Amino acid sequence: MIDLAKKHFEKIVILCGANRDCKYYPCHFNNQVCLWCFCPFYPCYDERLGEFITRKDGNKIWSCIKCSWIHRPDVACEVLKEILEVTRGKNTAEALKVFENRELLMEIMKKVREKLP
Ligand code: SF4
Repeated sequence: MIDLAKKHFEKIVILCGANRDCKYYPCHFNNQVCLWCFCPFYPCYDERLGEFITRKDGNKIWSCIKCSWIHRPDVACEVLKEILEVTRGKNTAEALKVFENRELLMEIMKKVREKLP
């Protein structure tokens, strides 16, 4: 049982903490958390956080290279808290539908941005 608990804890540390074993760590700043390695708000189009860049083929794409916000421990935890709140009582398939609800995700982002700019 202890081994299973340890294995589970390992998964949590990798997923929710600072994944220093990742070859890209730290991709934004030291001690960043990696919980939202793939940002749930992408593309947020908030130019205080990210920016449009031009690719080699001339197409514009939203870039998050300069965004540290979602990797801050306080922000990452608050986003998780809000997402857990809106997925409470749902099974996994239903919870994943939240990611198709852009309006709801943007509301969550706005709420967290107001609380933790
Ligand atoms: S700029 Fe930041 S908040 Fe916006 S989509 Fe990219 S990582 Fe997410």
